[in-house]
Amino acid sequence: MNFSEIINEIYSEVKCGETDGHVASYIPELLNVNPDKFGIALLTVDGNEFCCGDAEEKFSIQSISKVFALSIAFSLLGEKIWERMGVEPSGTSFNSIMQLEYEKGKPRNPFINAGALVVADILVSNLKNPKEEFLEFVKEISGNISISFNHKIAQSEKEFGFRNAALINMMKSYGNIKNDIELILDFYFFLCSIEMTCKELAQSFLPYANLSKPFNYKNFPLTKSQIKRINALMISCGFYDESGEFAFKVGLPGKSGVGGGIVAIHPNIYSVAVWSPRINSKGNSVFGMKTLEMLTTKTEISIF
Ligand code: GLN
Repeated sequence: MNFSEIINEIYSEVKCGETDGHVASYIPELLNVNPDKFGIALLTVDGNEFCCGDAEEKFSIQSISKVFALSIAFSLLGEKIWERMGVEPSGTSFNSIMQLEYEKGKPRNPFINAGALVVADILVSNLKNPKEEFLEFVKEISGNISISFNHKIAQSEKEFGFRNAALINMMKSYGNIKNDIELILDFYFFLCSIEMTCKELAQSFLPYANLSKPFNYKNFPLTKSQIKRINALMISCGFYDESGEFAFKVGLPGKSGVGGGIVAIHPNIYSVAVWSPRINSKGNSVFGMKTLEMLTTKTEISIF
């Protein structure tokens, strides 16, 4: 497979295309990013890497970190975590509160904000130093000790985090949040403010693609069956109310963030990360979706 030629071709084609997306403005600090940034990094499980554009520039990974948080919680508590959240697509936006009341404070899945707040609560209950241990896990899985978070972004989100505060208060009223709300929100905003490059992101998702290697980072092991479940959740819930569209057009497990990043994996073949900050109304990068749709179309390989 000539990934290099295909990636370069897609990059040039997508870059010249139209976009109706906008940089996320509900977290004011995210507006400081150059909307024209665009990078792609694809890493194969057999050790090759292909990068294009701004693939080595750091950006805010936002909700992509929900996959790492779920991985640690799943490793710590196993199947018990599903007592507190479901595994169904929500069909609603990432920060919607409507369903949460109907469903008595039990979020549909771990990748919408409500679910990720429950996961954050689980980590606060079970880790001695949640921020430190989370960052150590991300450093180890990405093989890069320089990974850090952006204090300004975390602060900006905290200042304007009214919606997340509403979600967590609603869940607390139903008894699905155990710790202090401020503590969990602070940890959650920290997770979202982690910064990575496309290359680092692709590297850190390679373990979800490389099923022949045992998964064990910072003593948080996951079985093959658990990795299968995380990948299944990425395909059914990774793009909120656009998850069906992503499966339909791209056909790979993946996860997006409002910083404009998208990461996707092809089991046993590759991991790919794209970053372009202009997102659509569902919170997903417009160029990111386009790039991955073209990638599986041109390579003629997806999981389907
Ligand atoms: N930090 C963002 C929030 O809580 C994450 C949302 C996202 O990336 N979809 O709203």
